[in-house]
Amino acid sequence: MGRAEAAVAGPLLLCGATLDTARGARNKPDVTKSMTEKPPLRILLCSPRGFCAGVVRAIEVVEKALDRFGAPVYVRHEIVHNRYVVDSLKAKGAIFVEELSEVPDTTSPVIFSAHGVAKSVPAEAKERNLLAIDATCPLVTKVHREAEIHRKRGRDIILVGHAGHPEVVGTIGQLPPGAVVLVESVEDVERLPQRDAANLAFVTQTTLSIDDTKEIVDALHAKFPGISGPHKEDICYATTNRQEAVKKIAPEVDAVLVVGSPKSSNSQRLKEVAERNGARSQLVPRAADIDWGIFGKIKSLGVTAGASAPEILVEEVLDAFAERYAISVETVSTADENVFFPLPKELRERAPQPA
Ligand code: SF4
Repeated sequence: MGRAEAAVAGPLLLCGATLDTARGARNKPDVTKSMTEKPPLRILLCSPRGFCAGVVRAIEVVEKALDRFGAPVYVRHEIVHNRYVVDSLKAKGAIFVEELSEVPDTTSPVIFSAHGVAKSVPAEAKERNLLAIDATCPLVTKVHREAEIHRKRGRDIILVGHAGHPEVVGTIGQLPPGAVVLVESVEDVERLPQRDAANLAFVTQTTLSIDDTKEIVDALHAKFPGISGPHKEDICYATTNRQEAVKKIAPEVDAVLVVGSPKSSNSQRLKEVAERNGARSQLVPRAADIDWGIFGKIKSLGVTAGASAPEILVEEVLDAFAERYAISVETVSTADENVFFPLPKELRERAPQPA
């Protein structure tokens, strides 16, 4: 039996899982030898996993900018939190910097990452006459606009998020210093001074834990009844769907492997969700980073990938497991995604001019 063939018709198959026949096409293991020597491992592959629409768009922004303007193009901060993606774009001519001060005066464009930037950043680019292209995910921009609207209505803002994450820095930077207070936990909410909820609103980072954020939002509503905010929170569809898929498989497997960068907030949250739902978990950027010691004699494994991790790295990880185990792979589908974000106007195809 090849590595993608075996399917144990467990309960997950009844809720939308399908056999992943596509994986059987490449890198089939040496079945004649391996089946007698390798222990069996049932792999449940989460779907959706990996790239979200905001990441696809951000990478395309850099690639289109390279096509249109030629190398180099400058990118402020890692365009998305994934070393493989960043290195691939570097090889094509992108230069990554942390601050605009590192960008020479140039006609080459400078691209802002998917995480968004404080208002001071495009302002500095304008002052220096740099050609700025904004690859901020539209779902992050939506949070920026929410914060601005609340401010215009005279409300102070509480931001639920992780200190120091570039998205949080960018959201705080939409408003004047002191207008946004960051809370990271229910305890932070308890420490906030009591005040009139009529002049208070909250927004959230897009890549948080759904369950943790619900607790924090509940604490905000309890402490400040009537506080303004989004219907639930601002956690994006991709973060939500990837966490839901992990919740589904974690109770069914011995361990969950998350492919993604330790810098990636949504990847970190996937590891936490797996652990809270009873599975050992490991977050790895690449197959070479797998700590095989934590898996021991597992019989089943869940695999997912953060929103900035390309599918090729998931394939790499599956290949690494196929070298050690006789694997069978089942895809567990919990949501369909067909979200698409158009490119920034600077990069949209120009309409052909009349002759
Ligand atoms: S994880 Fe969500 S907010 Fe972040 S880039 Fe993807 S879609 Fe946008």
